[in-house]
This record gives sequence, structure tokens and C-alpha cells, in this order.
Amino acid sequence: MNNNNKSYNGYNAIFTRKDRKKTILIPWFTDFLSPMIPAVAKIAGYNFVNCPKTSKQSAEMGLKYGHNEVCYPATLVLGDLIAEIQTGRYNIDDLAVAITQTGGQCRATNYLSFIKTGLKNAGYGQIPVISVSVGGVHQNEQPGFKLPIFRILPLVINAFLFGDSLNQIFASAVARERIKGQSESLFDKYMQLAVSLIEKREHKKLLPLLQSAVAEFETIDIVEDRKIDKIGLIGEIFVKYNNYGQANITRWLREQGFEVIAPPMIHFFTQTFVNQEINTKNGLSKFNFLQKVLLLFFQRLFDKKMAKIRVILTKSKFYTPHKSVFEIAKYAKDIIDLSNQFGEGWLIAGDIANFSREGINRVVCVQPFGCIANHIVAKGIERRIKEFYPDMNLLFLDIDGGMAEVNLQNRLKFLIN
Ligand code: SF4
Repeated sequence: MNNNNKSYNGYNAIFTRKDRKKTILIPWFTDFLSPMIPAVAKIAGYNFVNCPKTSKQSAEMGLKYGHNEVCYPATLVLGDLIAEIQTGRYNIDDLAVAITQTGGQCRATNYLSFIKTGLKNAGYGQIPVISVSVGGVHQNEQPGFKLPIFRILPLVINAFLFGDSLNQIFASAVARERIKGQSESLFDKYMQLAVSLIEKREHKKLLPLLQSAVAEFETIDIVEDRKIDKIGLIGEIFVKYNNYGQANITRWLREQGFEVIAPPMIHFFTQTFVNQEINTKNGLSKFNFLQKVLLLFFQRLFDKKMAKIRVILTKSKFYTPHKSVFEIAKYAKDIIDLSNQFGEGWLIAGDIANFSREGINRVVCVQPFGCIANHIVAKGIERRIKEFYPDMNLLFLDIDGGMAEVNLQNRLKFLIN
């Protein structure tokens, strides 16, 4: 038969309602959120299992079974999944994989088809691929998967804010601890306790747990006779918060005696509140009246929750209050139009400006190879940043599967010296 006459079959592994008990493998994202995801999914009625932490093997597998016209996080995510499937620990017929989808303008929106192609290349084309997204509107073609979003939203918000806040406290404590490893073991202890609370459906106790974490972190013996210099870390969300994805530069900088400060991850999501206002003003909003009212409702709900979190965190000597996303947007507006919303968009400009205003004049911006969104924004604003903040030292680091950690460290040495 002539190959040209073959009809295109696409990827037709379906996740039906009967498959709800299947194991759903998810790639590792970050240490302060990933451990809680399977417990949250269980409440939603699904059996999510984390892949192990991203590693060199993830990069190798991603490159082997994907193509190289995609951004580096996509390669790692695919590699995480394939490496884990290849361990043989799973019954392939009882397995699905899932990936989050935001439906934005960047390549993340193509992860779904990229993973399908990769799985097919590796001989796993029978495994259903699920898109996890709020509202289930972005490419969710699987009839058996639907997140009960309104039911789990309070839990998701509590878990997210718990992890994000714990990470902020940890990042400051680890730079000051006298006994190495103390902060990390407290971090692990409280992540584990959070997972247990979620599993017991007691997520309302997450804020009191954060309170206990703050209190116990206060007992850490810290170095007081030495000034700790701070370095800001900004850039693309995956490489910023995934240790292997960012080539462990945070760990390396800490070993050199620096405190590494990454903005809270929540800003990545709450930038929507700003974006919506801008889009409405520009006549570009796709939200209908009901969606706008809902967004306002979430904004109020979120503000209330954040106020409670702030009361808890201010009791910690490791906590530096951070600006609201609206204030960050105000700083960003001097540098770049707020219509630049793909990837981290204007947040990159706002975060740099914010660091400078707080006296942090060394900032590393991590950018995955192939990331159009972050490359354009970050490199594009460099000159303008210099005009407004002449003392700022910016280092842009391109991260990809072929890089040597030592090369990145050499470039970082120029920044820290
Ligand atoms: S922001 Fe960049 S690196 Fe991240 S998913 Fe989008 S294109 Fe890829």
C-alpha cells in the first residue's frame, strides 16, 4: 500500500470514566509543591504519582524521545515521565500521565502534543495523556478526567500558600544556619506533616501548621557575626524552582555564602489579576461578565488568605515582607508595557526593579534554551533596566541539556566577585 494513502490516526489513547483508578504519573516540579500534589489529587478522586526528582537521566530521555525544537523544561518533563515508565514499576495498561496546561502564548501550551509524540516514539502510545487545567478548558480531550475544581479550590490554595511560604522561610534560614542541614530537615519535616494533613482531609490545619513551622524555624542556631549578601533569582518558572532544571545554581550560590531570594511563586498566578485589568483597558479581554465577577471574587478571597498568612510570617525573623503583585506591576510599567504577558512577561521587569529598590543589586535571570517568551522579555529590557537602575548587575543564564554546571558557575563567579 502506498504510504501516502494512510489516514492519520493521531494519538487516540483515551482515559474513560472507568479508568479513574489508574495510576496517573506526573513529572516532578518543585520541592515545595510536588510532594503535596498526589495527596490533593486523591481528594479529587485520582491516583497521582510523582516521578522522582528531575535528573540527568530526565534530560537524556527527553532528548532521546522528543525533538529539539522545544524549550528545555518540556524536554525535562518528557524525560521524567519516560525514565520513570521505563523502570518497569508500572503496569502499562493501568497507567496514564498528566501535565498541567495554562493555555498561554508560550510553548507550554504544546506540551501535550509533545508528550504524546515522545511517548509514541518510546513505544508507549497506548498510555492516555491528561491535561490538568483550571476549568478544564485547555485541550482536555479526556472524557474520564474532570477536576472538581470548586470542591478542591480551598484545599489547593491552602496547600499552595503553605508550600510557597515555607519555601521563603527556608531560603532565608538555610543561608544563616550554623549547623548545616538543620533548615532542610525542618523543611522536610513540615512538608511531610502537610502531606499527612491533606491526606486526612484536614487542610484547614495547614495554616496552624505553618505557624508551628515558623516557631520551630526560630529555634535554628544562626550565624550572626557575618553579613549575608543577597542575590535575586528570577526567570522562567520551571527552571527557577526546579533544582535540576536550574543546574543547581541556588545550591551552589548558597555554598558560596549567599542568600538566594526567588520571588514567591504565587505572583506568577496572581499576575492574572493585573493582566485582566490591562486587557480590559486595551479591549483585549476574553472574559465574559460572569468570569470577571468570579475573578474579582477570587481576588478578594485570595487577599483575605494572604493577610492571614502575613500575620503568621511576620513572626519569623527569616521573613522579608514582599510587595503585592499590583505594586510589582507599578514598578514594571516604567520598564515595559504590561501587555507583555507571555511567559513571566512583565513580572521579570517588576521583580528586577523590586530587588533594586530593596538594595539587592545582583540578580540572576535563568532562561531555558528555546524559551521564546522569557528570552524576548528578559534580554529586551536589559538596557532600559540599566537606565532606571544603574547599579543593577544582571546575569542572564541560558540553561539547556548540554550545559556544564561548571560553566554556569564560572559565569556566576563574575557576578559574585
Ligand atoms: S515559559 Fe518558556 S520555557 Fe517555560 S514553557 Fe513557556 S516557552 Fe517553555
